[in-house]
Amino acid sequence: MATGATVTCPDCGLERAFDSLGDARAFIEDHRTETGHEATWQLGRLAAGVERAGDEAGVCGSPDCTDTDSPLYQGEN
Ligand SMILES: [Zn+2]
Repeated sequence: MATGATVTCPDCGLERAFDSLGDARAFIEDHRTETGHEATWQLGRLAAGVERAGDEAGVCGSPDCTDTDSPLYQGEN
């Protein structure tokens, strides 16, 4: 079964396959740092947005790393 991820960047047309999700994620971060591009990834049957939703929901609970503009943001109780 495929557990890898394919990273694509609409800004420069890059497409690269990775065996591990961690490698794909690291590449996206590096690509963003180096070029400012917002690359996305596709893994298995999950869309790229699934992983991003987890980030935007503020998993770590800190306001500093929570995207409060996200519709997924739950706010403070
Ligand atoms: Zn790019």
